[in-house]
Amino acid sequence: MIVAKFGGSSLANATQFQKVRDIILADSGRTLIVPSAPGKRYDKDEKVTDLLFRCHREQKEGISFEPTFERICQRYLDIAYGLQLTLNLQPHFDQIRQQITSGASADYCASRGEYLNGILLAEYLDFDFLDAAEVILFDEKGVFDPEKTNIVLEKALKNYKKVVIPGFYGGSHDGNIRVFSRGGSDITGAIVARAAQADLYENWTDVSGFLMADPRIVHNPKPISHITYHEMHELCSAGATVLHEDCVFPVRYAGIPTNIRNTNFPVHPGTMITCTAIQREDFAIFAGVAGKKGFSLLVLEKEAPDRSWSFVQGVLEGAKNCGLAFQYLPSGVNCACLLVETKQLYSYIDGFKAEMEKLEMPHFLAIQNEIAGIVLVGYGIVQNRETVNRIYEILQRQGIDVVVINQGCGELSTWVGVPEDKMEEAIRAIYSEFV
Ligand code: ASP
Repeated sequence: MIVAKFGGSSLANATQFQKVRDIILADSGRTLIVPSAPGKRYDKDEKVTDLLFRCHREQKEGISFEPTFERICQRYLDIAYGLQLTLNLQPHFDQIRQQITSGASADYCASRGEYLNGILLAEYLDFDFLDAAEVILFDEKGVFDPEKTNIVLEKALKNYKKVVIPGFYGGSHDGNIRVFSRGGSDITGAIVARAAQADLYENWTDVSGFLMADPRIVHNPKPISHITYHEMHELCSAGATVLHEDCVFPVRYAGIPTNIRNTNFPVHPGTMITCTAIQREDFAIFAGVAGKKGFSLLVLEKEAPDRSWSFVQGVLEGAKNCGLAFQYLPSGVNCACLLVETKQLYSYIDGFKAEMEKLEMPHFLAIQNEIAGIVLVGYGIVQNRETVNRIYEILQRQGIDVVVINQGCGELSTWVGVPEDKMEEAIRAIYSEFV
C-alpha cells in the first residue's frame, strides 16, 4: 500500500490533474492520496494558499476580499471545467465566503485550498473524500497531537479502500481548524503513511528528487538516488533544502521509506529515503554536499596546560548556562573550539565571558568570524579513509584556507570550515573531486 502526496505544482491546473491521475492509476497500490492546494502555474502566478491568506487579511483590514476570492474560485472552476467534472462547487464557495465574512481564523481560510482541491481530486479519481479536520488532530493550544491522531486515523482508514485526505490542516476538539507550517502537506502525507502502515510514502513534486548539491552553486548536480533519513538530517542541518524534520519523523519512526518523485517526469525513480543504508546505485561515496554561511569559531585555550578535562568541561558548562548553542566542538584537553552561529554569538558572548571568568582558569579567547560550514554527508565517507586528504588537497590547489575540519563525527559526515567568501568555490571543487 502506497500513500501518495502531490504538491501544489502537481495539482496547479487540469493538465497537472490528468498527470496525477495517470500516476495513481499506474499502480493499484496508490490508494491513499494526499493533495496540496493548487500551486503556481507559471513564474509570476500566485498559490491558492497565498490568496486565501490574503482574503483573511483583507477582511480583517476592512477591504473587500471579493476580488481575491473570485480568483480563487476561478482556479477551481477552471480545473473542474478542464476535467469535465459536473460537481457543483458553488455551495462550498458560498460556505467559505460566509465564514470569511464572519471573521474566520487565518488557519481556517488557508486550509480551504487543500479542502477544495481534495474534493475535486476525489471526484476526478472516483475515490472517497475524508476531511482531515476529523482525523488529523491538534490540541487546544494548536499543537499537533501525533498519538491521538494515529489512533483515530488508523481506525478511520479501515473504512476506506481508496481515499483522498487533504494535506496541510487538521482540527481540534473545539471544532477549530489548524494548519501546519507552510508546505505542511508533506507532514500530512507522512502522518497518513504511518497510520496506514504503508509500504511506501511517495512525495510527488516538480523535481526528480534531491540533488547532491545546490544547483545555484554547482552546475547541473546529479540527483541523489538513495539516502538514509539520518544522512538527510545531516544535510538539512547543513543548509540543504530537503524534507523538513516534521515530515520525516512519522515515517522514520514507523520504518517506512519515502520516495521523492517528479509528477512531470514519472519514469524517473527520484530519491529513495530509507531507514538503513543500502549500496547507492551509482556507488557515490557521499549522498550530498551542502554549505551554510554565518558561523564564528570561538577558540578557548588554557594558559597553563594540564592533563585534566576540567577546562573543556567548564567551557561546555559555561555555554550551557548562558544558552550558547554550538554546531561543532573540535577540541583537545586544554583547548576547546566552539563553532557557533554568528548571529547568536552576539547575543550571548557577554554572558559566556562571564561564565568563563567564574571558572577561574586563566585562558585566551579568540573569535574568528565569517566562516562557512561545508558538510559532506554519507556513510561511504567512513569507508574511504582518504576523504580528508582529498578535501585538503583540492582546497589547497584552489588556494582556499581550511579553517577547521572535523572528520567522521558520528561516522556520517565530514565538516569543513572555510572563509565565507570562498564557500561556493569550495563546494564546486569538492563536488567535482568526488562526484
Ligand atoms: N498549500 C500549503 C502551502 O502552500 C501547504 C502545502 O502546499 O504543502 O504552504
